[in-house]
Amino acid sequence: MAKKEFKAESKRLLEMMVNSIYSQKEIFLRELISNASDAIDKMYYKALTDDSVTFDQDNFYIKVSTDKVNRTLTIADTGIGMTKDELEKNLGTIAESGSLAFKKENEIKDGHDIIGQFGVGFYSAFMVADSVKVISKAFGTDEAHQWESNGTDGYTIEPAEKDTTGTTITIKLKENAEEENYDDFLEENQLKSIIKKYSDFIRYPIKMNITVHQPKEDSEDNETEEVLEEQTVNSMVPIWRKNKSELTDEDYENFYQEKRYGFDKPLKHIHINVDGTIRYNAILFIPETMPFDYYSKEFEKGLELYSSGVLIMDKSPDLLPDYFSFVKGMVDSEDLSLNISREILQHDRQLKAIAKNIKSKIKSQLKSLLKEDREKYEKFYDSFGRQLKYGVYSDFGANKGDLQDLLMFYSSTEKKLVTLDEYVSRMPEDQKYIYYATGDSYDRIEKLPQTEMVADKGYEILFFTEDVDEFAIKMMREYKEKEFKNVSSGDLGLDTDDEKTDEDDKDAGENKELFEAMKDILGDKVTDVRISKRLKSHPVCLTTEGEVTIEMEKILQQMPD
Ligand code: ADP
Ligand code: MG
Repeated sequence: MAKKEFKAESKRLLEMMVNSIYSQKEIFLRELISNASDAIDKMYYKALTDDSVTFDQDNFYIKVSTDKVNRTLTIADTGIGMTKDELEKNLGTIAESGSLAFKKENEIKDGHDIIGQFGVGFYSAFMVADSVKVISKAFGTDEAHQWESNGTDGYTIEPAEKDTTGTTITIKLKENAEEENYDDFLEENQLKSIIKKYSDFIRYPIKMNITVHQPKEDSEDNETEEVLEEQTVNSMVPIWRKNKSELTDEDYENFYQEKRYGFDKPLKHIHINVDGTIRYNAILFIPETMPFDYYSKEFEKGLELYSSGVLIMDKSPDLLPDYFSFVKGMVDSEDLSLNISREILQHDRQLKAIAKNIKSKIKSQLKSLLKEDREKYEKFYDSFGRQLKYGVYSDFGANKGDLQDLLMFYSSTEKKLVTLDEYVSRMPEDQKYIYYATGDSYDRIEKLPQTEMVADKGYEILFFTEDVDEFAIKMMREYKEKEFKNVSSGDLGLDTDDEKTDEDDKDAGENKELFEAMKDILGDKVTDVRISKRLKSHPVCLTTEGEVTIEMEKILQQMPD
């Protein structure tokens, strides 16, 4: 039997792919299972379009089995199979996707989401295999063929025996190396968990023979024996494909826990089904509490990313802006290719469109939470409000008018958190600015001499206790055409403000020497010492001129250069 050569460029591509596209070896199983699922989809499609073909659910499945003695792993499916030509074309040419061709031939545009279309997934088997044997019998034919290859120097094709339509792929595992134990892929539990992790939502049953302990027959003292029982290891129908009306809060909570998105309960879930120019399903969660490692280097933002039910990335960071990094959950789209690298994904147009859509959905959900369940919103804000302020600060251009409505600050008059909208709607007509004061705590701000004048006018003051507060509103400049004003700034815009009068000049003249002496002592700590009219019960206060306030100066000084 003459060996046929891979084309030279194919050989290089193969090496490159095996070593670089996939970060984890275990992913080969995901690839082979997705191919099997595609092959069954094609049968399903045939049945839809051809009356002589019936599609009986029970006859379509994927079976994963092992042979520990020979160190082989087998993935069998009852899908459409491949003819000799197809084996040659689809498996002998890298980057040849029979699935893509099938889609084109049958003008399948959507709905029947056949996963493959890239033509490299199959070769991922060579990450773990010394050799791969594929025996296949195509639908509508009676002969079977065997394709075999060790991955690097070509493949052979010869006639083979197979009773049923479908494909059986047998992988001879590589010898164990120091850093790699290929025997793991022979372990029931290991395989089961890989399948659960990547292929849980494949629509067809993935079966395995699982060892179970059952009471021994005719045994007196509760003796058990090990037997193999065929089990379906995947859960098949993903919750995100189900109808929202079928699902309860508890279903979402269970999913949150199963997925280990957090140890707490979700505060809110957001279930999105979009079916338009972009298509995706997503389930997102806002956690109740901040993850314990949220502010540590270890924390990684991101959502799980699926392509038609197959996991392609654990944490896709590109799906969430930094200020929503606390959001957990998953996104599934038919429009994403399975074996796409992280780098390419980053620039993927579909992914960008999805990310944008997700961002606006989260915003609108938070807005309605604020409106409909204040208590819950405040709980959320307590944990993650700071992120929103960072969002306003870092990304204001893009978020104008969105995030600012979600901000809340403590109010001097209401003695609780209020939104900017609430503040502005309460402003008396003669009030020009939105006033705020900064400090370490509400208590300390309350005692600031600078607040007195504004408070005396009956105006509300927002208390800023977090570093980011003032930076965020400086970025906004104004809210609903009302500018922000720090109560310790020079010009407060009050009628009673320190406008210079003759009397002032007189006072200043009389105290000239005192002020000079004070300035001398304070040196470059101050730029000026002046008479002030804003003081009532305090002898002195500090004010600033220009944009940078005292609190901001403090923070800027703490920052590393
Ligand atoms: P992709 O799935 O992106 O098309 P693969 O390298 O994973 O690329 O597979 C190449 C092609 O081989 C598939 O498109 C399909 O035509 C064929 N193929 C692979 N596995 C099977 C299978 N189990 N049954 C039928 N055809 C298969
Ligand atoms: Mg594939």
